[in-house]
Amino acid sequence: MDHKVTFKQLKLLPELERALEKQKYTIPTPIQEKAIPSLLEGKDLIGIAQTGTGKTAAFVLPILQRMKQPSNKVKALVLAPTRELAAQIGESFAAYGEFLKFRHTTIFGGVGQGKQVQAIRQGVDIVIATPGRLLDLINQRKLSLSDVEFFVLDEADRMLDMGFIPDIKKIISQLPNHRQSLFFSATMPSQVNELAKRLLKNPVHVEVTPQATTVEKIEQRIFFVDTQEKEQLLRYILNQKHLTSVLVFTRTKHKANKVAQFLTKHKISSDAIHGNKSQGARTQAIRNFKTGKVRVLVATDIAARGIDIDNISHVINFELPNEPESYVHRIGRTARAGAEGTAYSFCAAEERSYLNSIEKLIKQKIEVISHPHHSDAAQTAVGSASKPPPKYNRRSNRHARPQKKSKRSFRRR
Ligand code: AMP
Repeated sequence: MDHKVTFKQLKLLPELERALEKQKYTIPTPIQEKAIPSLLEGKDLIGIAQTGTGKTAAFVLPILQRMKQPSNKVKALVLAPTRELAAQIGESFAAYGEFLKFRHTTIFGGVGQGKQVQAIRQGVDIVIATPGRLLDLINQRKLSLSDVEFFVLDEADRMLDMGFIPDIKKIISQLPNHRQSLFFSATMPSQVNELAKRLLKNPVHVEVTPQATTVEKIEQRIFFVDTQEKEQLLRYILNQKHLTSVLVFTRTKHKANKVAQFLTKHKISSDAIHGNKSQGARTQAIRNFKTGKVRVLVATDIAARGIDIDNISHVINFELPNEPESYVHRIGRTARAGAEGTAYSFCAAEERSYLNSIEKLIKQKIEVISHPHHSDAAQTAVGSASKPPPKYNRRSNRHARPQKKSKRSFRRR
């Protein structure tokens, strides 16, 4: 498409236009361009979109426009899988709604509920919440959903991963039938699809994740390595100074902590974020990473989801994810806003099958790098050796079967 739709053409309220001007947004992103007109007409919507596409403004703007008068009743409810994402959505309501009079609050677990209850009591029009805490407050009768007119379920696939679907079904059962519902997900596993069908009435479909093109811009490399050598390999890679801002992914919280501790011990500034950390500690870690105070942030998939960090120079998959879609999400963190990025992945023998699934999904072979910790055993693993031992596959590899230690190789492959 040659012509560019501007926000002016979307016929938003002057107050919203003013807020967008303040943000210096003039051109809607593709999801905004496609979703906003239907949402302003009051239609339900299913949006297949990842973080970074501008999906938040795509639902926040039309909701603010359609809310009419502040009422101090909960008219809009947004569910998000993580506290970070809920907080970011709250910030978007604050930014885009700056010249309107609506009040919003954010509700999530891991902190005392007193302040959140107080905010609700004082009257809010918009609630952004994670499902667990919201359900707690509903059960304690601190909050009623009987006036909700706009309902948004964000990152539904993550909700599924985190086991939130039963909570979400309970929440949906409390909503009035007459409402506008919006559903966002980066991927559509069957359970997510089922939930969408249950929630939405004649939804408009909008899809904006040409995943292949995102992946194409990223320089991807594979490092075959034995599990017990991964920390040394990471240290070896981080000795290169051009890796200025590195997001390292692990599968478990335990491993995230271990890796961060290892790096700190070797004088590489790092921090870990995951669900067991307090909200304050997570916010601080993200801030330190954004400002460059900390060079390496180690995160689990769930903790990293929805965090808005630009300028990540490298993503390192210390452990490969067992779902190939997560690989695409992870590496997508390094090529934001048209920038180029680099993604390195460590692959041990027992992760070889994960690598096969990833290469199938992205429809390309990832280039293999030669390095001092190279493992032939990892590169050539097939059959049961290419999969995690069944009993331990959700835990760290501490107790994994002993692997034959391969000879180190310095040759190029
Ligand atoms: P999201 O996918 O909602 O997390 O948004 C990703 C980033 O894009 C956020 O930092 C937004 O502030 C920014 N953004 C959203 N819409 C626009 C737009 N139309 N023009 C420029 N930046 C935008």
